[in-house]
Amino acid sequence: MKIYEKAPAKINLMLDVLHKRPDGFHEVEMVMTMIDLADRLEMSEQPRDTIIITSQAGYIPLDEKNLAFQAARLIKERYDVRQGVHIHLDKKIPVAAGLAGGSSDAAATLRGLNRLWNLNIPLAELLSLGAELGSDVPFCVTGGSALATGRGELLTAVPSPPQCWAIVAKPPINVSTAEVYGRLRSDNIQHHPSARDMVAALEEGNFREMCRSLGNVLEEVTLKLHPEVQQLKDAMIKLGADGVLMSGSGPTVFGLVAKESKVARIYNGLRGFCKEVYAVRLLT
Ligand code: ATP
Repeated sequence: MKIYEKAPAKINLMLDVLHKRPDGFHEVEMVMTMIDLADRLEMSEQPRDTIIITSQAGYIPLDEKNLAFQAARLIKERYDVRQGVHIHLDKKIPVAAGLAGGSSDAAATLRGLNRLWNLNIPLAELLSLGAELGSDVPFCVTGGSALATGRGELLTAVPSPPQCWAIVAKPPINVSTAEVYGRLRSDNIQHHPSARDMVAALEEGNFREMCRSLGNVLEEVTLKLHPEVQQLKDAMIKLGADGVLMSGSGPTVFGLVAKESKVARIYNGLRGFCKEVYAVRLLT
């Protein structure tokens, strides 16, 4: 038997860091939503009790470092599953981009294996398995739009953004999430974005307020390390995006646009700057 799962990328509409916790994690407030840019996972039963990961992408680990592998191993151990699985990852989400590609693959693996092996694991349990794999995984399990608190694993559903497009551009640099959080001085953040304002904008379905409430404290670190990310933001604003922000720890930048007629202009304008550009809808 074979099953398929889609693993969409996430963007942060806002990301605030409140403080560093005694356990070393940062206490965060994030509003996250999904975009129509997704990896596709094919999961098929295996005659032998092994986990095999394959992918067309040559640049991700295919061993136990792969988050889909870790998700499969966790489910097998926890539910004493003695069957094997072959997971093929058709990667479309740029890697190490701030779009939670690995986390979304892990979440899709949890959902998919729950079906493939008829485990009937309730959602709450899938979420706590996800939290063991990474802070962004629980959100990727549920999808939709959510306010995430704690280290990102405590979720409250919020209304999806009003219909709009995102032009997503990843400059050709690699950013390590651990390094960015490591360099952040959480006691010295210049400007804290407001989760409350962002949630209010979503509740009102107010696109303009949503753009006004975009904010990400990690920009302070990543933009200093990589000025080209700031240049990309400036280019998007110049080309007419209604709101522009870096996603997660970067380096990916997205620009929100309400009018479809602007999408092609911004997309084409950015292609000169950057090879990896996508024009996608926000998922509702
Ligand atoms: P986040 O926003 O959650 O920090 P990201 O988008 O910055 O995630 P990922 O694409 O998840 O980063 O990749 C981060 C690292 O994880 C990469 O260096 C990659 O080698 C590794 N990795 C492990 N499993 C996967 C996977 N299934 N897909 C992509 N990368 C993976």
